[in-house]
Amino acid sequence: MSETKSEVVAQNKPQQGGGYISISRRSSIFKNLEINGRVNGFIESMRASSPTHYSLSQDQTSWIIHHPSALDMFEQIMEASKGKKIVMFLDYDGTLSPIVEDPDRAFMSNSMRKTLMKLARCFPTAIVTGRCKDKVYNFVRLAELYYAGSHGLDIKGPTRTSKYNKDRKAETLIFQPASQFLPMIDQVYQQLVDKMKPIPGSIVEHNKFCVSVHFRCVDEKKWSELAHQVKSILKNYPKLRLTQGRKVLEIRPNIKWDKGKALEFLLESLGLSNCNDVFPIYIGDDRSDEDAFKKLRDRGQGFGILVSKFPKETSASYSLQEPNEVMDFLQRLVEWKKVSLRSRSRVLMCT
Ligand SMILES: [Mg+2]
Repeated sequence: MSETKSEVVAQNKPQQGGGYISISRRSSIFKNLEINGRVNGFIESMRASSPTHYSLSQDQTSWIIHHPSALDMFEQIMEASKGKKIVMFLDYDGTLSPIVEDPDRAFMSNSMRKTLMKLARCFPTAIVTGRCKDKVYNFVRLAELYYAGSHGLDIKGPTRTSKYNKDRKAETLIFQPASQFLPMIDQVYQQLVDKMKPIPGSIVEHNKFCVSVHFRCVDEKKWSELAHQVKSILKNYPKLRLTQGRKVLEIRPNIKWDKGKALEFLLESLGLSNCNDVFPIYIGDDRSDEDAFKKLRDRGQGFGILVSKFPKETSASYSLQEPNEVMDFLQRLVEWKKVSLRSRSRVLMCT
């Protein structure tokens, strides 16, 4: 799998004995320049993925032309899905719930939950998130959905009871391709908690197969120090990598697995991976969602919808501005499905 732009490969490439072999041979002045350059570049990248204000230099009009509102283009989108099986993939934070200061309080509204419940009756629906699967399940609380937590490293299908034996649960899909990383992730989590103590506003979140360092409440002047500290820990763990999201740095196993791979795995689990008539729709707001948008473009099936109020470089085809618009879009999908089922049954009755 090729690396995506969203991915900030850890500066600690695996090397014998650890450290930066090439750098250690250079003068200390050059070493400092290089490290500062990397960190500055990294900070720029953190700003790009976490815009705090709209930049007038960005041409919003041109961006909207290339990524029109999925609500405005609803009819055209449905036309493209005609005769195909729609499968829904949804990120959680910033997509189904608003981004809030305390990540433990990113609650979804009741109306969004009701909408999701109806959606899951119409189409196979999966939540694909960087969060720990159990934590996101506690927010959503709908057993009929698929959940892919820790950026797809922890997948669980709907819990179904057997029609013939109510006491016995039918086999549930479970997939954890990075189980061996759990002790390492625990260690890194503890170290990050200690290192982040002096940085006001920082929050370290254990997401089972990855660790998130949230900086949405950290003064921008402290972002550089925060990045330095995260990298200083990570250089001792060449089997882990660093990625960026919206006001969050994420440490995860350095394996070829991401939200795009999780999407492909779920399609395969649904028996749809080799079908020409599948139409996956993926909605997300984060850099890590780009892997899934790109996957859809590569497959030439369905499309991605980026949730953003700001122009951003994206492989998504369409856009929505905020979770409320996502809910409107999902409700329209449910209505569309009801209408198409009604008209189909009328046609059957007439034949
Ligand atoms: Mg998100």
